[in-house]
Amino acid sequence: MPVTPLHYPFAFLISKSDTRLSLPALVVGSVMPDIEVPLMWIFFSSLPDHLFLHSLIGAATIGTLLTVLVTRFLYTPIISTIFQVDRIELGEICRITPWLVVSSFIGVMSHLILDFPMHWYNPILWPWVDPYTIVGPLVLLFMPTYSFWEAYNIASALTHIAMIVLWMVILVKIYSKGNLWFRHWVSDYSKR
Ligand SMILES: [Zn+2]
Repeated sequence: MPVTPLHYPFAFLISKSDTRLSLPALVVGSVMPDIEVPLMWIFFSSLPDHLFLHSLIGAATIGTLLTVLVTRFLYTPIISTIFQVDRIELGEICRITPWLVVSSFIGVMSHLILDFPMHWYNPILWPWVDPYTIVGPLVLLFMPTYSFWEAYNIASALTHIAMIVLWMVILVKIYSKGNLWFRHWVSDYSKR
């Protein structure tokens, strides 16, 4: 995984592809699969720390459901409190609609898409295919020249750098348009 918050820029970019998509649901979905990591460490330390929520089946079901619930019930109080975004307006946008559910699904999938190339094992086809047999293509790309762990570290570093740069570009662009936190957390299609 890239450090979990670094999934944000990709979610924001996806939100630009269709005005009906919910940025809050995309953002929540984009980080949701990583909640299993600490849980796996604590309760299932003999298993890989990326497993159920990093599989297509787990992400599409429980991952999407959790995203819908968190977006509906937790996103508004947390974001409006920390970033002073209008609570009523945000609450209205976080109501459960078909597009919010679609956005939740896409958000969770965006996490898997970003993790996949740079990760040294991938449970995307779990429980049918052993996660350790699916090495990310970006890791494979560097493996002829470097050791397995070096290749993984390079793939990981490149992904992190790309996301940090992308996030900085996003911040500069939305800052220049005004109403920064609303655009960052609610919608870049601000009426104001
Ligand atoms: Zn992850």
